[in-house]
Amino acid sequence: TDAIRPLIAGNWKMNGLRASAAEFEAMLAGAAKVAAKADLLVCPPATLIAAFADKARGSKNLKVGAQDCHQKASGANTGDISAEMLADAGASAIIVGHSERRADHGESDFLVRAKAEAAWRAGLTAIVCIGETQHQRDAGQTLDICRGQLNLSLPPAATSGNLVVAYEPVWAIGTGLTPTVGDVEQVHRFIREFLIAKFNGEGARMRLLYGGSVKPSNAAELMAVANVNGALIGGASLKAADFLAIAGSY
Ligand code: PEP
Repeated sequence: TDAIRPLIAGNWKMNGLRASAAEFEAMLAGAAKVAAKADLLVCPPATLIAAFADKARGSKNLKVGAQDCHQKASGANTGDISAEMLADAGASAIIVGHSERRADHGESDFLVRAKAEAAWRAGLTAIVCIGETQHQRDAGQTLDICRGQLNLSLPPAATSGNLVVAYEPVWAIGTGLTPTVGDVEQVHRFIREFLIAKFNGEGARMRLLYGGSVKPSNAAELMAVANVNGALIGGASLKAADFLAIAGSY
């Protein structure tokens, strides 16, 4: 799995205005310097996808993604955005099943799976997020929770080309807390074994990201862990200097 090309993905969450284009342009300018080592993905709010994707056209290694989609292609779904619309705006990937969607919008594993399939229907990569809460970790349920989410959230047609899995312990998101390197290694090995058992050789090649309080100061040690093929980054993806420093730690 060491030959898997890393992906450094930024999740801007509900942050960013049109004036943020300057920050994005700085990321674009810096992306070329890390092109030999990693792919970059910036997932701004949906309002900025088209403008950013237009700027990124022609970039070798920086693409634009989305943070969520509706599972249907079109219809009477006021306020929702389909994967087809995101593809039309220039997105190349969609994060699905982020813990904030699961918690704040009651998204089930079943819905997350439908959204991953919607991303594929539109020709996009699905980045499926899983991870345990603090309560579940304290109860020793981390691997059981991850197994359950993997079982129910990953569609059977997953390949290394259309699926990225992001392990994001909920208690590490936006808290400054991270699991130990040993804990990350254990969970990522478990996920890799699950993916190989279910998807054979494709499972061996799928990108497996760690997410949760990744910063320039801890990125190198987290990215060096076996079966960590990149990062999903929230807060530290908003500033080009931080985002590029993390990408450069490979
Ligand atoms: C996230 O929301 O995916 C995330 C990892 O956030 P942060 O990096 O801010 O912990």
